[in-house]
Amino acid sequence: MKVGLITIGNELLSGFTTDTNAAWIGQRIGEVGGVVIWHLTTQDSREDIIRSIESTPEDVQVLIITGGLGPTHDDITATSLYHWAQTETEFDEDYWKELEEKFKNRNVTIPEINKNQALKPIDGEMIQNPVGSARGIRINKNGLDIIALPGVPAEMKAMMTLSVIPLLDENIHNPIHNQTLRTTGIMESALAEKLEPILRETKVKLAFLPKLTGVDIRISSADTNEISELRDAIFHAVGKYIFGEGDILLEEAIGKLLIKKNLTIGVAESCTGGLISDRFTNVSGSSVYFHGGIIAYQNKVKITELNVKKETLETFGAVSEETAIEMAKGIQSRLQVNLGLSSTGIAGPGGGTDEKPVGLLFIALAHAKGVMTKKFNLTKKRIINKELASQAALNMIRIHLTRD
Ligand code: ATP
Ligand code: MG
Repeated sequence: MKVGLITIGNELLSGFTTDTNAAWIGQRIGEVGGVVIWHLTTQDSREDIIRSIESTPEDVQVLIITGGLGPTHDDITATSLYHWAQTETEFDEDYWKELEEKFKNRNVTIPEINKNQALKPIDGEMIQNPVGSARGIRINKNGLDIIALPGVPAEMKAMMTLSVIPLLDENIHNPIHNQTLRTTGIMESALAEKLEPILRETKVKLAFLPKLTGVDIRISSADTNEISELRDAIFHAVGKYIFGEGDILLEEAIGKLLIKKNLTIGVAESCTGGLISDRFTNVSGSSVYFHGGIIAYQNKVKITELNVKKETLETFGAVSEETAIEMAKGIQSRLQVNLGLSSTGIAGPGGGTDEKPVGLLFIALAHAKGVMTKKFNLTKKRIINKELASQAALNMIRIHLTRD
C-alpha cells in the first residue's frame, strides 16, 4: 500500500517545530506493511493546501494529512478538503450535543467558534478523536482515500492507532515484516564489509541505520522464514557486535545479563559525569544489580573517595590506564560489588596535549579475575564524547559478560 503524507503548519516550515508527525507516521505505516512514498509540508493556507492535495502522485492510494483542523484555524484543512472534493457539509447535531456536554463537564461554556467542528461532509465520514475535540475526516475521491487528522501529536497518534491503522490494515494482504538487530562497537562500513558475502547471496531487503552509538540492521520481507534465515546468518557473521533485537537499549541488554549472572555493579565516573549511572537507572528494576556510583571529577575526589594513589595521578596523569584501573578497583571495593566500572578521558574542547589529545578515553572494568581496560580515541566534541564514552563503557561490560 502506497501512502502519501501532507503535514500542514507554518511552524514546521520555519523550523520552530520539528515534524515528528511525519517520522512517527512513516514508521507506523512501515510496521503494517505500507510505505510512505511521498511527503510534502505546506503552509497554513487554503491555496497551499489545495495545491498540495492536487499534486499528490497518481500511485498514492491513501493520502494522510495532519494539521489545521482546530477551531482557531477556521477549519482550514477541512474546508480546503471539502472544496477540493466538491462535497457539501451538514451540521452534526449529535456531535454538537456531545461537545456541549464535554465542555459542561469541565465547567466551561463552549465557544461559538467550536461550531465548525460539528460540521461533517455529506460524502465522507468522521474519525473519532479520543483525546481532543477536532475529529478527523475521511473522504474518498477519484479512488484516492484521504484521511485528515489534527496536528497535535498526541491526538494524531491516538487516532492513527485507534482508527486509521485498523482501516488500512484491512487493505493490506501481504504485509512486510521487519526485524531489527542492534549493534555497537563497529562502524557501518566495517559491518557492511563483513556482511558483504551474505548480502550478495540474498534478495531480502537489508538496511543499515547508523546512529551515534551504533548501527541498527533492519531486515524487511513479507516472508518471515526469509527473515529468520537471514537473521541467523547475520548473527553467525557479526553476532559479537549485536547487543539485542527490536528496540532494546544497551543498558537494558546489560541489565538482563547482570541479572542472569547474578552480578552487581558500581561505577566511578570522571569524564562521563554521571551519564553511565544515568543510563543504568533508565532501566526499571536496575537497583537489583546497579548499586550506585561516584562522580570523581577532581583528582582530590579520586584520591579520597576511590583510593586512587596520589603517585599514580602524578606519574601517569588522571587520564591514563593506570588511573582508570585504580578507579575501577576503588569503586568495586568501596561499594562491595562484583564489578567496578570506570571512565576517565579528555572530553574537550580544551585540555588536550600532543601526548593526550582531546577525545582520549580509558575505560576499566574490575571483575573477579582481574581488570579489563581499553583505550579509545573519540572525537573533538565534548557532548558527543560523553555519549560515546558511556556507550563504550556499557559495551565493555557486555563484552566481558558474553565472553565466558
Ligand atoms: P488543531 O490542533 O487545533 O486541530 P492543528 O492541527 O494545526 O490544529 P496547531 O495548533 O497548528 O494544530 O498545532 C498544535 C500543536 O501541534 C502545535 O504545538 C504544533 O506545533 C504541533 N504540530 C502540528 N503539526 C505537527 C507535526 N507535523 N509534527 C509535530 N508537531 C506538530
Ligand atoms: Mg497547525
